[in-house]
Amino acid sequence: MTSLRSVTHPPAQTIFDLCAADIKPTREFAQWCDAHDPLAPFRSEFAIPTDADGKPLAYLVGNSLGLMPHAARTLINEELDDWAALGAEAHVHGRRPWVDYHTLFRAGLSELTGAHPHEVVAMNTLTSNLHLLLLSFYQPTRTRRRIIIERGAFPSDRFAVHSLVRMVGGDVARDVIEVAPREGETLLRNEDIEATIDHTGSSLALVMLGGVQYYSGQVLDMQRITRAAHRAGAKCGWDLAHAIGNVPLALHSWGADFACWCSYKYLNGGPGAVAGAFIHERHHADPPPRLEGWWGTNPATRFEMRSEFDRGAGADAWQLSNPPIFSLAPLLASFDIFHRAGLDRLQAKSRAMSGFIEIALRARMLDAIRVLTPIATPERGCQLSLFVDGGTPVARATYDRLLPRGIACDFRYPSVIRVAPVPLYNTFDDCWRLVEALG
Ligand SMILES: *Cc1c(COP(=O)(O)O)cnc(C)c1O
Repeated sequence: MTSLRSVTHPPAQTIFDLCAADIKPTREFAQWCDAHDPLAPFRSEFAIPTDADGKPLAYLVGNSLGLMPHAARTLINEELDDWAALGAEAHVHGRRPWVDYHTLFRAGLSELTGAHPHEVVAMNTLTSNLHLLLLSFYQPTRTRRRIIIERGAFPSDRFAVHSLVRMVGGDVARDVIEVAPREGETLLRNEDIEATIDHTGSSLALVMLGGVQYYSGQVLDMQRITRAAHRAGAKCGWDLAHAIGNVPLALHSWGADFACWCSYKYLNGGPGAVAGAFIHERHHADPPPRLEGWWGTNPATRFEMRSEFDRGAGADAWQLSNPPIFSLAPLLASFDIFHRAGLDRLQAKSRAMSGFIEIALRARMLDAIRVLTPIATPERGCQLSLFVDGGTPVARATYDRLLPRGIACDFRYPSVIRVAPVPLYNTFDDCWRLVEALG
């Protein structure tokens, strides 16, 4: 602590590194971090939910629904104003013409996913995109038809894969292989996933996993797994619902074939916000079969209403419909904030916050609560999954006592409380309040 206090103006990054290296499980430490946090001003750009007395909640559920940037209201209102004033003319003459509206998200998406701008597109919703991309990239043959997913996959991802396998005449029991933690363990091992891929070999068509596991918060080694899939001659796709806006991604250089995500978790796009997709540029010139719509055509000829599909460029060609503008507008605010804050700094703060919670829990000897999430980056993002001993009723009762104490988080059966200190708007004091409430 003395070493921390003696530092007067360290560069932004160093503050978080100092915090993370020398965490003290005290309220004073939390206050020191908040006072020296160069990202602290971003909190005021978000609406923070409050309790009945108007006191801000410790909102630790941004992994489920990110908070509203105040600018979202303005951006939606501007589109309502253009609709009111211009009607259909706003498609071309609005302040942000609707025909090109989806292109406003390319730069932000490319920054957050480590992709080229023409490899990403904002469209549809997550499960719809997963279906569309699976249809393109799962092309089973008689001998190569297996898909690797995860036993603990998010239900929607499992439903998407199973229903597709059935739709193309496959057999779920034979064609879907599930990777899981070892007996007695709670986390996946990258080497086990790789071994399953190697072992499945020439019968493997596709690997489709979550980059960040929604239940445990574990970050998988996406590069290593993608390479292994390609070595086996298979395709590799990623569900990044819990990864985008949370951990650094390099989809292009990792070589992933496709990826998709939703925009209402760490991206703060609002409930049901328009989701996104990545398609590696190697699939652009000679794309796999896909379902098509008019918004995937070349914008220069789109309104000639041609009967043949004049293909649009890059990932844009996967679009089906003209996009829902009001469900896209808030994302503009969010991408602007991410751009100014910088993912590097956000990650450094995130690391310090989750480390603080873990160490403070341990210091208070809360042995009945075990952190499931891996200890270290790069295997950890914002989220910590806290396993409560004593069975579901005890865990549930523990969770139920948190909201009355001003802590917003969520519960996943059988016994896990998920908390996600989000570096854009959470404070170290929020983390401290959580630890006190659990105590
Ligand atoms: C949040 C989440 C979803 C939700 O799907 P929607 O289509 O947006 O309702 C699906 N998969 C994963 C892995 C998620 O984390």
